[in-house]
This record gives sequence, C-alpha cells and structure tokens, in this order.
Amino acid sequence: MNRPFNFSAGPAAMPEEVLQQAGAEIANWHGSGMGVMEMSHRGKEFISIYEAAERDFRELMAVPEDFHILFMQGGGWGENAIVPMNLSQGGAIDFVVTGGWSQKSFKEAGKYGQTALAASGEAGGFTDIPDPATWQLRPDARYLHICSNETVHGVEFQTLPDLKALGSSAPLVVDVSSHVASRPIDWSRVGLAYAGAQKNLGPAGLTLVVVRKDLVGQALTICPSAFNYELVAKNDSMFNTPPTYAIYMAGLVFQWLKRQGGIAAVEARNIEKARLLYDFIDASPFYVNRVAPAHRSRMNVPFFLADESRNDDFLAGAKAAGLLQLKGHKSVGGMRASLYNAMPLEGVKALLAYMREFELRHA
Ligand SMILES: *Cc1c(COP(=O)(O)O)cnc(C)c1O
Repeated sequence: MNRPFNFSAGPAAMPEEVLQQAGAEIANWHGSGMGVMEMSHRGKEFISIYEAAERDFRELMAVPEDFHILFMQGGGWGENAIVPMNLSQGGAIDFVVTGGWSQKSFKEAGKYGQTALAASGEAGGFTDIPDPATWQLRPDARYLHICSNETVHGVEFQTLPDLKALGSSAPLVVDVSSHVASRPIDWSRVGLAYAGAQKNLGPAGLTLVVVRKDLVGQALTICPSAFNYELVAKNDSMFNTPPTYAIYMAGLVFQWLKRQGGIAAVEARNIEKARLLYDFIDASPFYVNRVAPAHRSRMNVPFFLADESRNDDFLAGAKAAGLLQLKGHKSVGGMRASLYNAMPLEGVKALLAYMREFELRHA
C-alpha cells in the first residue's frame, strides 16, 4: 500500500518501516509473550530496549560521556519550566527569541528566574536571527536559552553560537525539538539540549534531555521530584515510570537512522530536500518564503501563495493528490511543509509537482 506523504509539523510522519516493525511486534515482542506496553519498566526485556535506545542515540549523535541522556515526560513546553527549575537557581536567565517557541520558553521561565532578552527577531517578524555579536549577554546569567529550529516560523541556526567566543561563561540551553537527529550537534557549545520526540524521534509523550553532568544537582526546592534531573539521572530515567512505549518507538527510529547511514547521511538528504523546495519557491512568483536565506529551516518550510484567497483550494487539491497536513500554523497562516527525517525525497518531488501544476492552473 502506498501511503500519502505527510507534511505534518508534529506529531509527524514516522518511517513506515518502523511502523511495520512495531505492528508486527505489538502483541509479542521477540518471543517474550508480551507487547512492549505491557512490560514492567524494571524487567530485563524493557531494560534491554531502554539501554539499546540510549546507546544508539549516544552513538548516532556522538554525545560525549560527560552528558546524561534522560528520557522524560512533559514535552517541550514542560521543559520550558523544568529547565529553569533545575538550572536557574532563581537567578538571571538570558533569552534569544527567534520565533514562537523561544518566545513561549521566555515567558514560562519568567516564573522561575530573572529573565531578560539578549536579542529578539520579533521586529522583523521572525524572519532572521540577530547577529550573535549584538546579543546582550549578562555576566551573571545562569544560562542562555535559544531554540535552534523554530518550527512555526521556519528559522534555523545553521551553527550553534559559541558563547565562550562571545565572552560569556554561561551554558547554552537549546530547544532542539524540531531538528534533533536531522544534523550533528556541536556538544562543545552546549550545556543542555531538549527535544519533544514527536517531530523527528517518535511518538508524543517522550522528551529527550541531554545535559552536561556538572549542571545537574542545583534544582529549586519547588521542582517536582519526577522532573529533577539529578533524581532522574541517578535512576537511569526510571525514578518513576518512563514513557516505555514511546522509548521503544524512538529506539526503533534510532535503529532506522543507523540503517540510513547515520546522521551525516541523513543530513545530506535533508539538505537536498530543503534545497529543492526553496529553489522552487524562490524561482516562482506564485509562492513566497520570507525567511532570510542564511537562516532558513531545513525541517519546516512555511510558504505563502501570492493570492491567499486560493489557500483552501490549494489544501484540498494537495490532499486529493496524497499530500497531507500542509496547512500553516494559525499564528503565521499560509502553508507549511515539514520535511523531517522520515519524509523521503520522493515526497518533496511529489509536492513540487503538485505546486507546479497548481501554479500553472491559477497563475
Ligand atoms: C513542538 C515543539 C515543542 C513542543 O512542545 P510540547 O510541549 O511537546 O507540545 C517545543 N519546542 C519546539 C521547538 C517544538 O517544535
């Protein structure tokens, strides 16, 4: 069966191979007589699933040994509170706001620490990333927060800022939810990275946190125990019941990524997919993307029809052509094509063919 191509921003398409494997194993995992969602998280079967997932993620993303990898719940938005409860000590926290997600993080953290904007792209409608040389970094900041891929506005850091080179000793906290595992991460520049799984790693309900070990152990007393990184790390993410099925699914995705050739190979494909779509949009008077080319996201491509009265038409035709969930985020409007790892090149080609045909019909 040929499934339609699914451009959802999240929860998003999974590799079909992974869904088939999970389906085949759903009632009886590896002859255990149990499905994964029926297993004790402390039994040897699940422990082996968990350990493989952690090991595979560490290997794929080259996470150094001085970082914990935590499998948590609460989502990206949960981390917007969990990070400041664990790292701020109620002190200064700096934010660079480059779109809807970092803006949400900035607002939430204000409940726990002394937040300030180091820079914001809001005046330009979040179509650009302010030059790091202009960021106002406070010397006493406990950390600086960025969102390295803005899922709604389609703005991506192509390299992470080097805070040391900017004269700051603050750790960098990065929301990598919507481009984790789409490209390598330079861990030497990172203190903590977090990601909701539902964009590029697996089903909703799992949040991955990668945190430098020396940053753990200073949580505010109000921090719930289940969200205290120190307790979660000490208990190998099993302080309380972790999202076992979502961990299993993410583990299958990690194995799939390895079969794809690893992150470098996946990144090369992501570059190609994004290039095809942006080149087409830029060459057409009928479609527009307003993000500065140097900061365009490879994962989330918002675009507009020059004639917005045709939006509903465009979406209905797309659906009929087997191209799902292209509607833009309500705060931005227009269209958005999300090209996560699980989107094959043929999906992008099918989208371009449809866009070309729609343009010919209506231009
Ligand atoms: C989707 C997303 C989140 C999601 O948060 P949830 O609490 O899991 O809904 C956070 N940050 C970014 C950048 C996202 O793309």
